[in-house]
Amino acid sequence: METVRDMDRMRGLVERARAAGRVVGLVPTMGFFHEGHLELMRRARAECDVVVVSLFVNPTQFGPAEDYDAYPRDFERDGALAEEVGVDYLFSPGAEQMYPEGFQTSVSVEEISKVMCGAIRPGHFDGVAAVVAKLFNIIPAHKAYFGQKDAQQLVIIKRMAEDLNFPLEMVAVPTVREEDGLAMSSRNSYLSQEERRAATVLYRSLETAASLIESGARNAEVIRGDMEKVISTEALVNLEYIVICDNIYLQPLPELSGEVLVALAARVGVARLIDSMVFDVE
Ligand code: AMP
Repeated sequence: METVRDMDRMRGLVERARAAGRVVGLVPTMGFFHEGHLELMRRARAECDVVVVSLFVNPTQFGPAEDYDAYPRDFERDGALAEEVGVDYLFSPGAEQMYPEGFQTSVSVEEISKVMCGAIRPGHFDGVAAVVAKLFNIIPAHKAYFGQKDAQQLVIIKRMAEDLNFPLEMVAVPTVREEDGLAMSSRNSYLSQEERRAATVLYRSLETAASLIESGARNAEVIRGDMEKVISTEALVNLEYIVICDNIYLQPLPELSGEVLVALAARVGVARLIDSMVFDVE
């Protein structure tokens, strides 16, 4: 594995690989790897000839009062893990290279960036969309791998890629969970032991939704009500939202039908955690 810091070198490597007929896969990340990240890399490794992982803690997607400085980082360990999984290139540019003086372009995927996490973190998804657009240009891959864990991000990036004609195939990878169901996240490292235990209620609330849907429930208010009841049993968990919506426009669905996204966000201590499930409803 080679660590690449320079974006011109990175693009050159990918262009040469493409010219040689090799299929290139890109896995964008902010590092501090866990099994979720590694699963994306393994999937890319299985499906592509050349695997590029980008590791960049993108300052523009953090709000002024958010955890950019505190965001966990361990470059050495990340490098070793990526190498073990068989990644070819670890692209890790400096912020000054990604955002040189004079930078002023924004990428805004309007309506679907304003709801759910976007309503609570204004500007967050503009930062995400812009950095992913830059990565798609710097690393002209055939396929890009994203986690279903960040469900709204996935919907927004798919929309952006379609709207702006990025010729990459988007691959969604199912959420990787701890044994007790908690979705893996770099931010789980913020949790105390007590908070870590309490946080499992988020998954249990999604399981509640799953069994209700399985047994025929279609009314979103009923499902949300039961999920809220489950979450309210944990005083350490402060629910921000539960949204039950379609998985393309993120519009609320009073009655469930088609591809349905059940997504939630909560604060547990200083950590802001998100989780979700997608259901195919007849
Ligand atoms: P991050 O480093 O948190 O920006 O995540 C980088 C990529 O890994 C994103 O596409 C995430 O959706 C994905 N990811 C993060 N956690 C998980 C998880 N538990 N399961 C699957 N994918 C994940």
